[in-house]
Amino acid sequence: MFTLEPLPFSKNALEPYMSEQTLNFHHDKHHQTYVDNLNKLIAETKFEDMSLEEIIKQTAEDIKYASIFNNAAQVFNHNFFWSCLAKDGNKRPNGTLSNKIESVFGSYENFEKEFKTAAVSQFGSGWAWLAEDKNGELKIMKASNADTPIAHGLKPLMTIDVWEHAYYLDYQNRRADFVDTFLTHLINWK
Ligand code: MN
Repeated sequence: MFTLEPLPFSKNALEPYMSEQTLNFHHDKHHQTYVDNLNKLIAETKFEDMSLEEIIKQTAEDIKYASIFNNAAQVFNHNFFWSCLAKDGNKRPNGTLSNKIESVFGSYENFEKEFKTAAVSQFGSGWAWLAEDKNGELKIMKASNADTPIAHGLKPLMTIDVWEHAYYLDYQNRRADFVDTFLTHLINWK
């Protein structure tokens, strides 16, 4: 049985960039629903006692487990996304990651541009990620629906949720404004 992890900040902590109303729906309704659906789908199956990451890896390539994958990945993705948000968080990555970003993308500003392009150009629901492969190589990936770096053997480092439920109450159709605000005011590097 999985339970909904509480937000790592209070519901109004990200105002005015992400409203309490958005978090009431996004965390308490959408994220909760993924947890509830996952628990129903894995009850009395071989997945029941696995970790989220194990479930994601074992269901990723198998169409008959698409519903379990989608809900498990969305639970993981949202837990990760909340950890990437803070109003007065770390606006720049730590030294090692910062150096890596500069060597791969040229500068932090170029990374921001490429990350924004991925987030804005993801067609329909999904995510943009910065992830690291087994050799420590960084890559920006667009991901549709519930797709997640975990399913591709990659370690997630940063993400933004670009499902409409993530921004519609605050930004309506202006996804690019949401992404800019995320990069300027909400991003929180570990
Ligand atoms: Mn979401």
